[in-house]
Amino acid sequence: MLVYHLPGTFETREAHLDLLWEAGATGLEERAGLIRAYFDAPADVHPDIADGEWQEEAEQDWQAEFRRTLRPVKAGRLTIVPPWLVQEVEAGQVPLIIEPGMAFGTGHHATTRMAVEALSELDLAGLRVLDVGTGSGVLAIAAALLGADHAVGVDIDPITIPIARENAEINSVPARRSRFEEGSLGLGDADWQDRPFDVLVANLYAELHDLLAGEYAAHMQADAPLILTGILTGKLPLVREALEREGFGAVQVREDGEWVLLTARA
Ligand code: SAM
Repeated sequence: MLVYHLPGTFETREAHLDLLWEAGATGLEERAGLIRAYFDAPADVHPDIADGEWQEEAEQDWQAEFRRTLRPVKAGRLTIVPPWLVQEVEAGQVPLIIEPGMAFGTGHHATTRMAVEALSELDLAGLRVLDVGTGSGVLAIAAALLGADHAVGVDIDPITIPIARENAEINSVPARRSRFEEGSLGLGDADWQDRPFDVLVANLYAELHDLLAGEYAAHMQADAPLILTGILTGKLPLVREALEREGFGAVQVREDGEWVLLTARA
């Protein structure tokens, strides 16, 4: 891989970026006070950008690098792992296997981990759980592994649904105990929302929780636990007010860095 290192940043050399593209750069990146311009072959550069240096660098396999950096993530009674690290799960922990891919939810985000922890504290035996914004299916699968009778995961992004179904299969969660559907609350009737749920979990974002709070209340049994995350600390008042407005009680807050998880009761 041929890289032309040009001293400066995108800001300080803004006027020169076009000259790099004109010279045939296939990509530009800024790192540690240097602009790195990628080329397929050596090129003549304009005198204004002649203060750079050509370097041949080893090809980096980013996918392999990413896979090497993944570690198991302990979350309550479960440990979220990619398939190739299952043997590293400690005795007594239940493996929750997620193949890292196109859908959000490998366990490496604080919100996913906190939500699995919160689910892990509940006795889910025999209960029906709804996971709104299921992504990789991680929270619905966690619920099933923790004993839920049936877990439904819904997402507005159709790409996530086959991924979530595949992850459920990898975890040996049978189709009769889990269901993944494109859709959401408030987007028309679907048969998965015929009956109220015993637990609802949603890792979305504060503004959406505000919009959906009434739907959450309408689709939950009385006194059922609600777990909401994806909330930045600064947006906590918005979600708190929405829960109060819709009659939720017993609101509790947990924080991890800039992220918040709320638990409440319908
Ligand atoms: N549940 C996974 C987790 O905890 O890691 C994924 C959470 S990811 C932050 C949010 C997911 O919500 C995305 O897959 C996105 O497509 C989905 N989403 C966004 N808006 C939605 C909505 N209104 N209804 C359902 N899903 C939604």
